[in-house]
Formats: sequence, C-alpha cells, structure tokens
Amino acid sequence: MALIRKMDNQLELDGVSVAYDGIPAVEGVSLSLLVGEIGCLLGPSGCGKTTLLRAIAGFEPTTGGEIRLHGKTVASFAGGLPPEQRRVGMVFQDFALFPHLNIEKNIAFGLRRMPAAERHRRVEELLRLIGMERTGQVYPHQLSGGQQQRVALARAIAPRPEILLLDEPFSSLDMELREQLAREVRDLLKRDRVTAILVTHDQLEAFAMSDTIGVMQDGSLQQWGSAYSLYHKPANRFVANFIGRGSILKGDVVDRARLATPLGRVTGEIPRQYEPGCRLQFLLRPDDVIIDDRAATRARIIDKAFRGSAYLYTLKLADGSQVLSLMPSHQELAVGTETGIRLDLRHLVLFPPD
Ligand code: ATP
Repeated sequence: MALIRKMDNQLELDGVSVAYDGIPAVEGVSLSLLVGEIGCLLGPSGCGKTTLLRAIAGFEPTTGGEIRLHGKTVASFAGGLPPEQRRVGMVFQDFALFPHLNIEKNIAFGLRRMPAAERHRRVEELLRLIGMERTGQVYPHQLSGGQQQRVALARAIAPRPEILLLDEPFSSLDMELREQLAREVRDLLKRDRVTAILVTHDQLEAFAMSDTIGVMQDGSLQQWGSAYSLYHKPANRFVANFIGRGSILKGDVVDRARLATPLGRVTGEIPRQYEPGCRLQFLLRPDDVIIDDRAATRARIIDKAFRGSAYLYTLKLADGSQVLSLMPSHQELAVGTETGIRLDLRHLVLFPPD
C-alpha cells in the first residue's frame, strides 16, 4: 500500500532545508503532491516560499532533506541534479514572452527537439487549451496581460514538465482578473493533468487555484492541507490569524465538553490533557458569530466594513474582548448600537494557553 502511494506522488519533499551563507531560509519542509494535484505556498514576505520553489527547480542547493520528482531523487545529501535535467516548467510574474517571436513560436520554444509535425500538433493543442486558437501568428505586444500570462503558461507546460512551478504568476494583473484567471488556469492544468505548485500572496487566488495549501512562517511549514482545513481546523494560532479573519478569545475548561467563555458556555470536544479550570484560547470566525438582539450576551458594534453581500462587524463584549461577525448586508446596523450576539459554532478550535 505504502509503495503504491509513493508511486502516485509526483512531488515529495522530505525535511528539506535551504540556507544562504549558513543562514537558514527554509527548514525541514515535508510535503507531497499527487500526479495532477495543485499545491500552493502562502505566507508573509520573507518566509521562504520562493526559496523553496527555487530549490525544487534546482536553482538553490539544499542543505538537508530530499526532493523527489515522480519517485526520482533530484536533491539529497549526495547533491542535486542540475535544473535542466529536472524537467521543471516555470512561470514567474516577470517571466516575459519573447517579444520578437509570435505566439506559436513562443509556445514552441521548448520543443525544438521535437519532430516538426509533432511540434505543430502540440502547439495547436495548447492554443486550443488556452482558448487562443486564432492568435498563433500574433505578437505578444498585441495581447492583453491576461492573454500573455496564458501563453506563458502554455509555453511552460508544452514540453510536459514533471512539475510546473508558478511564482506569483498573476500579481501584475488587476484583482478581478486574477481570481478569474486563477480558476481558468486551474481548469487548464487539470485538463492536462499537470502537477503544479504556486506561490502567491493572495489567499483568494490560492483558494481558487489549489487542492492543497501550505502556510509557511520563518522558513518552516506550519500546515499543509485543504483550504477548508486551514480555515476551520488551523494547526496553530499563526495559521488561524494568517488565513481569513477571526478572533482568539480566552475560555476556562468546565469539563470534557464545555468551555466557559465571555459569550457564555460553548460546547465541543476538549482534549483530555486540559483539566477543568485550565484557561485555553479558542478561535471564533466571523461566520460563527450571529447578531441577534434577543440573545443574552450583549455587545456593542464598534466598527463595520461593507463586504458586498455582507457587513463585517466588529463587536466589543462587556469584558473588553472583541469579536467579528459577518451578517447579510440587507440588515444594516449602525456603529454604536448595543445588541445581542450568539454563537453558531460547528466545532471548537482550541489553542493552549500562552
Ligand atoms: P516574498 O513573499 O517577499 O517573495 P518569500 O517568502 O518568497 O518572500 P524568500 O525570497 O524565499 O521569501 O526569502 C526567504 C529568506 O531568505 C529571506 O530572509 C530572504 O532575505 C533570504 N534570501 C532570499 N534570497 C536570498 C539570497 N539570494 N541571498 C541571501 N538571502 C536570501
């Protein structure tokens, strides 16, 4: 069974570390992607996302751990394969197309060793895949930014790389186009069963594009999971704060299933190691908090932000703690209003005390 799983993995990182002049930039990162899966690395500036991508491509030597592509070790204590032997495709933010070559020739750039008829077929197929069949003879400057990025993508996947690395590929495009293009690119990669790993700062882009997301902090991977699990089951406070919005409140363990909080008693599973009386922290997402004037817990609205279909309210409780609540925007409440709030918690996310 273990052997079968290993074979299905297109990318495996096993405790990978990278350092610049002895200073660690990536430390002990382990993750894997199945064939055709799309992963994403998120994290604050300087946390090591690009360094990890460069190590996978072979542009940075690893100082520890192992990288395998389709079961083949490409970097380990014994050294690494040079980038050109790893069969990695890349699309970067500023990875410009060749301005003097038309779109067809840009896409065919990495296919020079292919027989002409086969090369022509592959280019046609890719033009169809990116929905730009009639633009083969056109030059890059005649295309929009989004179209150019689609061509860059077609060029990168043309030689059927083992893995496609995308480093902030949409960041030069405006926000609306970015999310739409992220979804289009996802469909495109899925159709061609390309395994890919994306680096972005934009969480919506990550959610739109990937199957699995990794959150990095100071060179290490904090969590590797689906968007749902990062949002609803964050591994630690860093991930909870980094993904989406929310507040972390204090609560005292009453028994195995109850926590006494500033919003009354909440129920959920409390791990055995926490004795009654133990003070914990728990996560509240804006969608867990319902504004309901009939509710016993009182709070004052101290801020609100329009989010289109909803308002994001910030509320202050009697003990001074603050929570966020996301409510439909057709019921608008003014800042300063005192109201009731209740919880609609599906599960309890607990963190140990400080
Ligand atoms: P950003 O989101 O800003 O692109 P990142 O998460 O991609 O950041 P990296 O560029 O991988 O982060 O950088 C990780 C760390 O390694 C940072 O502390 C950075 O200063 C350092 N670093 C990156 N490249 C080099 C280099 N060529 N030489 C020395 N240090 C470097």
